[in-house]
Amino acid sequence: MFDEKRKQTRRTASLRRDSARGVAAEEHAAYPCPAFPFSGCLIEHEHENDGSMIKSGYDVVILGAGHNGLVAASYLGRAGLSVLLLEKNDYIGGATTSQKVFPDYEARLSRYSYLVSLFPEKIIRDLGLNLELRRRATGSFTPYAKNGRHDGLLLSNVDKEVGRKSMIDLTGSDTEFEQLKKFYDLSRVFAEHCWDSMLEPLVAKEEFRRRFDVDDISREAWRSLAEEPVGLAIERYLQNDLVRGLAMTDAKVGLFTHPHDPSLVQNRCFLYHLIGNKTGEWKVPVGGMGGVARELEEAARRSGAEFLTGIRISALGLNGKSPSIEFEMMGKRQTIDARFLLVNFGPNVLAKFTGKPFQPDATDEGSVFKINMLLRKLPTLKAKKYPAAEAWCGTFHSDEGYEQMNLSYEQAAQGRLPDKTPCEVYCHTLTDNSILSPDLSEQGYHTMTLFGLDAPWSLFARDNATVRKEAEKKFLASMNQWLEEPLENCLAVGRDGALCLESKSPVDIEDSLGMYHGNIFHDAPTWPFATTKTQRGTWGVETEYENVFFCGSSAQRGGAVSGIPGHNAARKVLEAMKT
Ligand SMILES: Cc1cc2nc3c(=O)[nH]c(=O)nc-3n(C[C@H](O)[C@H](O)[C@H](O)COP(=O)(O)OP(=O)(O)OC[C@H]3O[C@@H](n4cnc5c(N)ncnc54)[C@H](O)[C@@H]3O)c2cc1C
Repeated sequence: MFDEKRKQTRRTASLRRDSARGVAAEEHAAYPCPAFPFSGCLIEHEHENDGSMIKSGYDVVILGAGHNGLVAASYLGRAGLSVLLLEKNDYIGGATTSQKVFPDYEARLSRYSYLVSLFPEKIIRDLGLNLELRRRATGSFTPYAKNGRHDGLLLSNVDKEVGRKSMIDLTGSDTEFEQLKKFYDLSRVFAEHCWDSMLEPLVAKEEFRRRFDVDDISREAWRSLAEEPVGLAIERYLQNDLVRGLAMTDAKVGLFTHPHDPSLVQNRCFLYHLIGNKTGEWKVPVGGMGGVARELEEAARRSGAEFLTGIRISALGLNGKSPSIEFEMMGKRQTIDARFLLVNFGPNVLAKFTGKPFQPDATDEGSVFKINMLLRKLPTLKAKKYPAAEAWCGTFHSDEGYEQMNLSYEQAAQGRLPDKTPCEVYCHTLTDNSILSPDLSEQGYHTMTLFGLDAPWSLFARDNATVRKEAEKKFLASMNQWLEEPLENCLAVGRDGALCLESKSPVDIEDSLGMYHGNIFHDAPTWPFATTKTQRGTWGVETEYENVFFCGSSAQRGGAVSGIPGHNAARKVLEAMKT
């Protein structure tokens, strides 16, 4: 039907396209996009929809307006295609959003994601994004008690010698420091061989492996990170339990797994945390994650993309060449046709509209507990060696010893909240205070984010409200063991007397964003190479439906704030248009 209509309107469409391109051409001059030359488009006639002008057909409709949908929309709009994004929430950005979580305070917190490492420089350049990603002075701080004294392991991002000395205080020599460097050399080398391929079609595993067949360290990196459980390398290189735990957290964040998991999902998770832009450094986006989403939304709007928020998809027509989307907005039902449909949410949500069963893997289970906080003052640490601002401005690890996390994993796998709940805590306002009003900043307010591990969806599924409360208590207790006074005393208080603290379990995250069982990556992270014959040479975004592609985290090489699947889906569409 869309094809038929398209023929009738072809003449008018091409006239409109010329005038539309007049505007777009200026944008393109400002932000040249050589990888995505204009590829031709068709614009259908417009009709009024509750005040917003939307057309009855688009070249590309994107379901969901997460950051990956925005990246795809920007590339495709700049290539001259008509693009519409349909978002269920009343805001744009999905898991990349800053919100005024506590209504009485002018503080915009990164409600879900908060740090950026995997967003490629190339996408920033291609789309002319004005993103400032700021280095944290401290990489990590891990408090510990030794011989009845409180101390902490501080690894600095700006002065390696601080870390060396801190490691000597913990272990008695600098051997572990040198070993840690050697261990991270494995992921550095892996990143060297892997990173640039993330924005290219997938190659076969064997071909990918051959890239590592150049020297001993590359071969070891391949073996340790792509073939054996990463726990083996951690245990081979590192002896200190706290240091082993430090390394292991990157293999667990967001997933329910352990060092020797035969699925190797922990390896994939580890790689995603260490290969970003070949450094693996996690930086604070200035203006919070909302700053990233806003910049991407502006880029998409500049490219001509249109948006509808607060919509409810009621049906998808996916059989045949031209997908159709039926949705409701403000009580009105409408149908739109598309040449291509990009799906920003995961296969679990898509399955609701196709009638086909969603068949998740056990490794797709999400494991996350997020606490967003606003503080009146920074908590005072029992460990006094480092200035509080230095200790709090990196990743603060609590109860994340290697054996401790093996135990918490086991206890959670038995169906109960662990006795000690591992977590990491971040105070972004020490790196970027622009998310606070000047007034709050002056008064010494800070935001704080706690990301809890070994909190799988299954623990919360039956009675989310009760278990969420219990988990919140445990995570706060974990933090309080390192503090002079309880964290609760440092929290800001709302006019109604409530503490400025918001907890999100995997169940809450699925409810808000659709992420399967609260999996922050939509599903288990994937390898950066083709794992089946049919994937070879593809962009890793294909679905079983013609002209329907994933453009979000669930695509191969998706997951985290990276824009990679958005870019790759756009490339796929432009390629498909040529055939
Ligand atoms: C608590 C938490 C902390 C995280 N921390 C980090 C971090 O610090 N750094 C990092 O790199 N990554 C982090 N992540 C992961 C990262 O945020 C996500 O992987 C990434 O943002 C996903 O982007 P996306 O565009 O692929 O999908 P999403 O952001 O999930 O966007 C999908 C969009 O689809 C919409 N949608 C869902 N269902 C429907 C429907 N039926 N109809 C219409 N629209 C629908 C959603 O509302 C959403 O806007 C975190 C995630 C969470 C949850």
